Formats: sequence, C-alpha cells, structure tokens
Amino acid sequence: MSDYLLTGIELAYLTAAALFILGLKQLGSPATARQGNVVAGVGMLIAIVATLLHQSILSYQMILVGIVIGSLIGAISAQKVAMTAMPQMVGIFNGVGGAASALVSVGEFWRLLKTTGTVPLDATIIAILGVLIGGVTFTGSVMAFAKLQELVTGAPVTFPFQQPFNTFLLISFLVSSGYLLVRPENLAVFLTLVGISLVLGVMFVLPIGGADMPVVVSLLNSFSGLAASAAGFILANNMLIVAGALVGASGIILTEIMCKAMNRSLTNVLFGAFGSDGTVVAGGSGAQQDKVVRSVDPEEGAMMLGYARSVVIVPGYGMAVAQAQHGVRELADCLEKMGVEVKYAIHPVAGRMPGHMNVLLAEANVPYTQLYDMDDINPEFDRTDVALIIGANDVVNPAARHDTSSPIYGMPILDVDKAQHAIVIKRSMRTGFAGVDNELFYKDKTLMLFGSAQDVVAQLVAQVKDLSN
Ligand code: NDP
Repeated sequence: MSDYLLTGIELAYLTAAALFILGLKQLGSPATARQGNVVAGVGMLIAIVATLLHQSILSYQMILVGIVIGSLIGAISAQKVAMTAMPQMVGIFNGVGGAASALVSVGEFWRLLKTTGTVPLDATIIAILGVLIGGVTFTGSVMAFAKLQELVTGAPVTFPFQQPFNTFLLISFLVSSGYLLVRPENLAVFLTLVGISLVLGVMFVLPIGGADMPVVVSLLNSFSGLAASAAGFILANNMLIVAGALVGASGIILTEIMCKAMNRSLTNVLFGAFGSDGTVVAGGSGAQQDKVVRSVDPEEGAMMLGYARSVVIVPGYGMAVAQAQHGVRELADCLEKMGVEVKYAIHPVAGRMPGHMNVLLAEANVPYTQLYDMDDINPEFDRTDVALIIGANDVVNPAARHDTSSPIYGMPILDVDKAQHAIVIKRSMRTGFAGVDNELFYKDKTLMLFGSAQDVVAQLVAQVKDLSN
C-alpha cells in the first residue's frame, strides 16, 4: 500500500476521532444532542470508509454480507423496540460488541500461532486482556438482557460456595495467564482462558438484582469500549483504540452519574441487593394504611390546572410506560393558551435509562427551553401553584430527604411537596422502582388522579379545552 494512502487513512482516523469528541460534547445538552449524534455518525462513516480502503481487508464480499445482515437486524430492532425496553437493547448491543472484540483477540492469537508458531509477549498480554474484557462483557450483557427481559429471575441469584467458586475462577485465570506468557504456543490454555472469561461474565451479573441492571448495562458499555481498545492494540488500529477509549471513559462517567443520582455507590450496586425483589420496605403500604389519600377526577384536576398561574410537570417512568408524552405536550399547550406558565422538571434518573424523559419529551417536540434540571427547578417549587406528577414516584418521595431508614435516603429528589398543590397521576398506590412507599401521596396538599397516564392526560386535555371555551 502506498505511503500516501496510509497517511490519508491516518488523517481520516484523526478527523473521525475529532468528530467523535465533538459529537460527545454536543450530546451533553438536549439542545445540541441531535446534532451531536449526526456529527459522531459522520465520524463513524469516515472511519469505516478509511478502514475499508485498507488493503489488509481480506474480502469485500464477506464485509458486504455482514453489513447487510447487521443493518437489517439493527434497523428492525430499533423500529420494533419499545422505549421502555431500551436498556435491554443497549445491553445486548454491548454484549455483541464485547463478543466481537474477544473474537478479534482469539483470531489474532490463532493467526500468529499458525503463521509463526508462537505469539510475541506484547500480543499475548493484549490477547489475554481482550478475551477477559470481551468475554465478561459478552456473557454479562446476555445475563443483563435476560434479567431485564424477564427470561430469568430478576432477583439476585446466590448459591452455596459462590464466593469461593468466584475466587477459584479468578485464581485459575491468573495462573493460566501467567503460564501462557511463558508458553504462548499452548492453545489449550488460551482457550481455557476464553472459557473462564465467559463464566466470569455470568457470575458477575448473576448476584445483581434486575432492578440494578441499567447501571450494570452502563458499566458493561464501558467494558465493551475497553474491549474494543484492546482489539485496537492487537490490530494496531489507532481508530479502534481511540473509539474504544472514548466509549470506555464515557460509559464509566455515565455509570458514576447514575449511581450519584440514586445515592448509591458502585460497590453497593454490584454487591448489594437493593430494590431487587419488589418487596415494599421502609414505611411500606402496611405502615400507611391508616393514612388518608385524597383523590380527584379529571374534571377537578383540569380546574386546578386551568386556574393556576404556574404548573410544573414532573414526568416519570409511568409516562414512558403509557407513552403519554404527546398528550402531555398537548395539555401543556392548552394550559399555556389559558395563560398558565408551564415548566417541566427533569430528574436525572427518572424513567429507566439516562435521559429517558428528555428523549420522550423531545419526541413530542416539547421545547428544550421548558425543560429544567433538578437543581434549577427545585428553588421554584415554593412559588409553584400545581406540581403535576405523571407516572413518577421515587424521584418525588420526600422520605429521601429525612427518613434515614429509607433505602432511598440521600437520593436527591424533586421538591414537589413544596408546591401549593401536587396532583399525582398513576394507576394505583403501588410502589415504584425502589419498592418504597411514598409519603407524598398522603400529604394534605396532594391529590391522586388514578388511571393510566395516557387516558388521564387525554381526559385532562378535553376538560381544559372545555374550560377555555
Ligand atoms: P418509579 O419507578 O419510581 O415509579 C413509576 C410509577 O409509574 C409507578 O409507581 C407506577 O405506579 C406508575 N406507572 C406505571 N405505569 C403507569 C401508567 N401506565 N400510567 C400511569 N402511571 C404508571 O419511577 P420514577 O421515574 O419516579 O423513578 C425512577 C426510578 O428508577 C428511580 O428509583 C431510579 O433510581 C430508578 N432507575 C433509574 C434509572 C435511569 O437511568 N433513569 C436506571 C436505574 C434505575 P402504578 O403502578 O400505581 O401506576
């Protein structure tokens, strides 16, 4: 291959890496996120074209077959997947990425062994790392998918001698790796390492509750990046190293943000069993039985909203489940026409994936300027007439502020109880993700509006329209 072409490819890689970084930066704000996606996508296209120009590519036909099959699977699953099933889809995609990286490591190790009869020390080290991270990512992600999809139990799975067994696996991995560094021509030991890595992935995710899977998926996403980086080192491909490092770093940052917003440490997520079995804890419904719940119907709710000066809408997981975002936008429009000031309060972990509410509201064309982060909106609640909570529960539970015995104690929440009134739309008194009862529902100023969010919001829209006529 000519020097010019090689330089051109490296320059294209540099451009792609710069576009990835720019895209990631733009993804940091809802206002620029769509553009960021396009910018990063263009970067990826440049990287792919440059790689295809590389003459060590063996067969364009095989690549074409792969592209067609992959694109079909990707396009169909992206169309079909429900917004609420997004975490498991991301999970399985991470797993496939991890498997691909592990296969690259296996393939390169094998190729070197076949062509030269041995494998250099640096390539052996990278291949070991590649199969470890890639293998753990693959089977760990498959487990996470199975738990989220409820193909296996979401409860943490433990069994006798689990810890000793895990320790045995780790020691076996270390000893086999040490041996392989000295005797890299021993293919059986290398394949044993592959097997141990795959089992380790299962053992890593098995004891974690299904409810914590989104955090695990984010962590595995980070692993898949590291696995890609390892594959990049093996193939001496700078693009793969940079792209993998970016995925690895952004995945770990996202994991940290999610843990912080849930007031959990990563160790607690990985080794605790919080929110895993759906039991009601800390002041559960039993404890609240003697308390009074006030409910309203859509007509009364619409009157309160229509005659308010300011309304803050707080969307949560239930809005996603009901796909009520379009109705919510229509309701906000109607209220604004009546002179009501409407804002949306977005909690960082509302829903089941980072940015869940932003994505749904953007889909319904809610202007970004109406979306407020927790820190910006919280000081405004005591000047708010009505906080309208739509399918949110944990993220508005005041117990997080003062009840030290609550599993969500310390989690930052939206201070909706400081508004003049709170209207809560949900179907029942059931708990949310964390399995804890919500004292907000029993407060004097809180009115429950029972029903599925989509129906209730549609009824509110109709009633508000009646009011304004
Ligand atoms: P919650 O899970 O606390 O509560 C959602 C509520 O929605 C439920 O109480 C349910 O009540 C109601 N609901 C369900 N379906 C409907 C429907 N069709 N119509 C109306 N209401 C409905 O959600 P939040 O958004 O408040 O909090 C998110 C939780 O998820 C937090 O605990 C967070 O830590 C956790 N989490 C978030 C992640 C993220 O990245 N966003 C990742 C991992 C965990 P009912 O059944 O009575 O209708």
